[in-house]
Formats: sequence, C-alpha cells, structure tokens
Amino acid sequence: MVEAVRTTGAENVIWDLSVFYSSVDDPAIQRDMDSLSAQVDDFAAKYRGRVAQLDAETMVDALKELEVIYDRSGRIGSFASLLFSTDTNNPQYGAFIQKVTEYGAQLNQKLLFFDLEWNQTDDEAAANLLADPTLGQYRHYLEAERRYKPFQLSEIEEQLLVEKSVTGRSAWVRFFTQLTSAIRVDYDGEKLTLTQVLTRLHDADREVRRRANEAITAALRDKAMELTYIFNVLAADKASDDKRRGYPSWISSRNLSNKAPDQVVEALIKAVTSAYDIVARHYRLKRVLLGVDELTEYDRYAPLPMKEADSFYTWEDARGIVLTAFEAFSPRFAEIAGRFFSENWIHAPVLPNKRGGAFCSGTVPSAHPYVFVNYEGKSNDVMTLAHELGHGIHAYLAAEAQGIFGMHTPLTTAEMASTFGEMLVFNNLMNREPDPEARLGMLAKKIEDSFATIFRQVAMNRFEDGFHTARRSEGELPTDRIGDIWMQTQQAMFQDSVNLSEKYRIWWSYIPHFLATPGYVYAYAFGELLVMALFNLYRERGASFVPQFIDVLAAGDSDWPEQILAKVGVDLTDLNFWNEGLAALRSLVEQEEQLAREVYPEKF
Ligand SMILES: [Zn+2]
Repeated sequence: MVEAVRTTGAENVIWDLSVFYSSVDDPAIQRDMDSLSAQVDDFAAKYRGRVAQLDAETMVDALKELEVIYDRSGRIGSFASLLFSTDTNNPQYGAFIQKVTEYGAQLNQKLLFFDLEWNQTDDEAAANLLADPTLGQYRHYLEAERRYKPFQLSEIEEQLLVEKSVTGRSAWVRFFTQLTSAIRVDYDGEKLTLTQVLTRLHDADREVRRRANEAITAALRDKAMELTYIFNVLAADKASDDKRRGYPSWISSRNLSNKAPDQVVEALIKAVTSAYDIVARHYRLKRVLLGVDELTEYDRYAPLPMKEADSFYTWEDARGIVLTAFEAFSPRFAEIAGRFFSENWIHAPVLPNKRGGAFCSGTVPSAHPYVFVNYEGKSNDVMTLAHELGHGIHAYLAAEAQGIFGMHTPLTTAEMASTFGEMLVFNNLMNREPDPEARLGMLAKKIEDSFATIFRQVAMNRFEDGFHTARRSEGELPTDRIGDIWMQTQQAMFQDSVNLSEKYRIWWSYIPHFLATPGYVYAYAFGELLVMALFNLYRERGASFVPQFIDVLAAGDSDWPEQILAKVGVDLTDLNFWNEGLAALRSLVEQEEQLAREVYPEKF
C-alpha cells in the first residue's frame, strides 16, 4: 500500500475457504460441476411434467433432492464469489466467477420447470396439498412460491430471461463492480481507492474532508459517461422485465420478494419522510458543536470535537468488545460469533483490489457463513463488524433449523440480527463510559448511524423512485437529470440544516445497491425501526425476551414475516408501529440536545 497506515492486527485475518475447495485450480471443482449437472438432469427426467400431480410424500422427496442440488451448486457459487470479492482484478478469479455464473444459469434453466409447474397447479389442488401436514418444514416454500403466480411467464420466456441475463443484467452489474473497484482517486499526490478516500470524510480535520470530497467528486465525474450509461441500461432492463411480467410499479417486484405488502412499505416511507425534522434538529445541533457557520456535504460525517473522537481499535479490541456485548445478551450469540474468529470465517484487511464495504455471505447449510469487512480500526469499523456478525448468527441459526429453503430471510427481516448486534455493542460501550463528554460523542455517532440506516436509506429510496419513474416516462436520462433527482431527494432530508453543494450532484453514481438490487435500500429502514421496537421489548421484558428472539432468528424464512414476528408480540400490520420506532429515535436526539447543554453550556 502506498500510504502509511497504522496496523490494526487485521492485516492477516484472512478467511479459510477450504470447506469448499483448496484453490481455484482444485480439480474437484470440475468433477463436482459434472456430477451436479448429471444429478440435475436426473431430477428433471424424474419430475418434469409431473409436479402438479405429486402427493405430499413425493413432493417432500422431490424437495429434499432439490435441497441437495441447491446446496451443491451453492458451494461452487459461494467459493467463486467469495474469492472474487477479495481480488476483483485477478483475471483467474474473474474467469472463474464468469464460468460459474454461466454454469449456474444453465442449472437454473433446467430446474425452472419445477416452480413453474407448481404454480400452474390449480388453486384447489394446491390448497389441498398445502393443507397436508406431511409437508412439514417444506410447506412455506411452496406456499410462498405461489405469490409469483400472476407475474410468471411461459417456461421458454423464463429460460430466455435467465439465459440473457448472463450477458445482460449480471454482466453490467459485474462491469460496474470492476469499474468502481478500479477507480483511483488522486488524493494529495497519491492514487487511492474510493474506499480509502471515503474513509477520510470521517476525519476530524475539515480540510482533509474537503479535499477528500473534491477528489472523489473529480474521480466520479471522470467516469460519469460510463456510470450514467450503466444506470440507464439497467433501469431500462428492469422496466422491460416489469412490463412483460405485469408488475404495476418499479418497486412491486421487490416488495413481493420482501414479502412486504405495498401498503406497508408506503406507510414506512410516509412515516419516515414525515419525520425529516429529526434529521434537521440533529444537524443544527452539530453545527453549533462544530462551531461553523454552515454545514455542507463533507461535514455530514465529521466527528464531534470531543475526547475519544479519534479512538483507535485494534482487531483484538474489536473482537473483545463485540464478544463481551454479545455474551451479556446471550451466551449462544457469543458462542456462534466466537467461531467466526477462531475458525477463520472472516476476511478483514483492506487490500488494493478488494471489494469495498462489508457483507456476510450465508453460503449453504453444509458449510457455514462468512463475514467480509475492510477493517481500519475506527469505531465505525467495530460497529460494522458487529453488524456483519449479527447477520452471521442469523444465517447460522436459520440454516441449522430450516435448511436451505428456509435460511434466506426476506430483505425486510434480514437486517434484524445485524442491527440488534450493533445496538448491543453500542449500549455496552455507552454503559462503560463514565465521562459525559465522551458519552455525548458516542450518542451523536449512534444517532448518525441510525440516520444512515433509516433516513438516508429512505431518501435513497426516494431517489430510486424518482430515477426509475423518470427513466420510464422520459427515456434515457442525462447525467445532470439524474443529478437533479439526487439533489432534490437528498436535500429534502436535511431541510435547511446542511447545504449540499453542486459537487454532491454526482454522488449517486458509485452506490452498488441501486444496480445490484434495485429497491433494496428501504429494507434497512424497515429493519432498523423494527429493531428499535424489539429493543424496547428487550428492555421491558429482560431475559425472557432472549429465547423468543433467538426463536425468531432461527425461524429464518419459514413463514410470513408478520407470523414470525407475532412470536415476540410485534404487529407488522399495525401502521402505528413505524411511528413508535421513530419516537425512540426522536428521544435519542432529545437526550443528545440535553447532554450537549450540560457539557458545553457556553455554546448555547
Ligand atoms: Zn446488513
């Protein structure tokens, strides 16, 4: 690396993928691909044309076979994508992931008949089968699959869409990943990655932040033509899919896959956009505390000038903090999270061509989840680690209890354990801190993290809404038109508390979620507000809440989210529930204002 970075101890924290294969050259990969192809052919020969006639017992047999097939293909796919994420410019990994993507598409085409035939079963026969207790844990998969029925096409059309997505949607998303990973930002005479310069927006020195903002803007403007084109192509691709399938709006397919009714999502968006004053209140306070005349985009993440704003956490510190906080909540949480560290299920260092950001990959039940972070020793990194380990615990519990069909929760509840894990770590740090000034700093940071999850994601959803709607009615959109939609939706969130400059106009262009999973972002807000409500329940009920919550996590995707959450007394259909989550956030900002007046009476 060009710049001198303090070592964190995360430099050598590299995951061990040998549960899958020894390396990209492992001959077992090709052998597995060949034998899996044969297994899929056998499966198709056995069940094609018969799915609608299967009784409950043979249906369970078929689903058990499918489970094995998905697990085996998931092992190959997980290995390829995990490898690729650590070195996106490695041509061998690139070729391998492309090969696996094409191979996976071939398998999917051969297996498509199963879900299609099941959905062609008439409603009465399907209802009879679903009522049979023999189905056991496989029932919800079949029941849930039926919701796509009105939007499904003929088998040949479905096959074509899968086949063409390899060189269409998937190819463009991969190109975007490679393009943005290869961007080198000119910063103080050095060539740095986007991730490295984005970190500087959290620097205490305003001049550092201003230069980082300028450098990133210049790097993104330099790629504006390519990025604008990719955004337009993928929006048009989505519009044509949606039209062919008959989805009423750009967000409908996402809501359906989230198992979230349109009205629930609309209520969430309405509740959050109506509470933008909470954002403005916090940033007005922040301006006073920073002692500047006006806040602009590069002040959003400025640390408040307090003790410990610059604290540095080694990898060992982070591990200790996270495991202690998890242990206090539930020994089971700590036990599972502990395995990620002791058995090398984490990839932690920042490396030149490594993907930015962080994620957890659940992989498959016959293996275990993996966590991917870019650890630099900031308190933010500790919270991110807790977040991803929360996902890891969720995936671990659900895979164990439900198998492959029930382990992938919809996006709305996917953030439940991760956000809860972050909250546990935050409260643990707060309780240990005797100094009110340091507590104020932590509280402000927690508030900004929650804003990033709730308000920023909803503001980004407003951007997506404007962008997709405009692309559908206006045709191909110029960079500046997309910039207009971005500025308008983001400024609305800050009201008059932060003045976004013209430089910010291009900052929509590097955000991967918009392309890889359109409509995804509101799920973060959903999840965080849900966790605020759950956390209140934990406070009220104490230890008796813990096993119930673990049950909810282990339930994975085995039922509709509202049914699963009913187990802890949350009513997702009650619209007022969103406002309760927001009230909890508003009270955090009130605490912050009060603490600030105590610590710095001279500033008010
Ligand atoms: Zn997450």
